[in-house]
Amino acid sequence: MTLYLKNARYLDYKTLEFSETALAVEAGPQGKITLLKAVPPLAERGPGDQVIDCGGKLVTKSFGCGHHHIYSVLSRGMPPSPVVPTNFVEVLEQVWWRLDKCLDNDMTEASALFAAMCCAKRGVTFVIDHHAAPFAVKGSLETIARAFERVGLGHLLCYEISDRDGQKIAEDGLAEHDAYLASGRRGLVGLHASFTLSDATLKQAVDLAVKHKTGLHIHVAEAQSDQENCLAKHGTRIGRRLENCGLLAQPHTILGHCVHLDDEERKLIAASQAWVAQSCESNQNNNVGLSGYQWTPRVMLGVDGMHHDMIRSAQAAYMAGQNTEGLSPAALYQRFRAVHEYLRAANVPGDADNNLVILNYQSPTPLERDNFPGHFAFGFSSGDVETVIAQGRVIVENGRLVSEDESDIVAYAQQQAGRLWKAMQGK
Ligand SMILES: [Zn+2]
Repeated sequence: MTLYLKNARYLDYKTLEFSETALAVEAGPQGKITLLKAVPPLAERGPGDQVIDCGGKLVTKSFGCGHHHIYSVLSRGMPPSPVVPTNFVEVLEQVWWRLDKCLDNDMTEASALFAAMCCAKRGVTFVIDHHAAPFAVKGSLETIARAFERVGLGHLLCYEISDRDGQKIAEDGLAEHDAYLASGRRGLVGLHASFTLSDATLKQAVDLAVKHKTGLHIHVAEAQSDQENCLAKHGTRIGRRLENCGLLAQPHTILGHCVHLDDEERKLIAASQAWVAQSCESNQNNNVGLSGYQWTPRVMLGVDGMHHDMIRSAQAAYMAGQNTEGLSPAALYQRFRAVHEYLRAANVPGDADNNLVILNYQSPTPLERDNFPGHFAFGFSSGDVETVIAQGRVIVENGRLVSEDESDIVAYAQQQAGRLWKAMQGK
């Protein structure tokens, strides 16, 4: 089955070349696209082939998210914690660790479905997620994978292994990755952060990543307190600790945040193969500070569970970057698109050229190759996303999810949020 797009103004996301064209879009995780002069006449099309008239609208590659936490979806508007947090560690203790301890598999499923729906409607067709549910670890990754696939999204998942809830739960985290990756799924080995990880657990996680030939995914120096803990407990800074345990040497590793690094750590990371995932809105929300990232060529953008909108995340990075690194619109756009380079280098399926968005972008000025980054930094909005094609299949049409029933997903999320909030009472 082939999906044809006619009357497209196609933007090649790498070269920024525009062409007035038709496209043939192959289905499947590795599907290709072909630019055509015209859609073949009906007699030459196969049964089940579909044609969308883009009406001259902009068509380009859909978006990817480099760091997400679907587990936080049911937190929106929840009752405040009994103790008001005053610093980053207290935010974790009073908000996120209270919440994640109460998650069960149904809540995880509802969170993943809702996140996937929101991502899809905002043109995000691939998500790299970092999960936490310490009392429902087993099977959690497969649950998220299936939810994402019901909606139609590509994914690269992991569970944030941590010693914060004791040795058994750290072992559950290791076992969950081992089972998930052994089943043939692509994923990463997730770790929470240096300050909740013993040397033994860190080593076991690196060994597991080596065994399954994959990368690790860890929060690094999100707050200064992570560094202070590392110096006090391990006599070294986090970058060196991660280098010493072999984590930085493992290909396709993702380091979230990297806000509080010194020059030596930056050099270590820049010289390794590790990628950095920037989520500056989350950094602002947690009041942990902001960093520039011009010290490494491998930076991508995430949302860190804050929302599901990668255009918003990019525009926030642009604003933050004015103060931290003098980020240009062109450099911002490169960073926004870096997730595709990461996924291609890691040979992860699901982010091929047949992932596309049709944008109803109305501009008061000409939109061309040379001024595209300025339009992206200031003009684009996820509200422009009209149709989303994921792995060659239409999953959003005229702004509505068509791969699953939106109202069912919303109702299920609200039902599970009620259960979660009740379970958190008195905790
Ligand atoms: Zn995170």
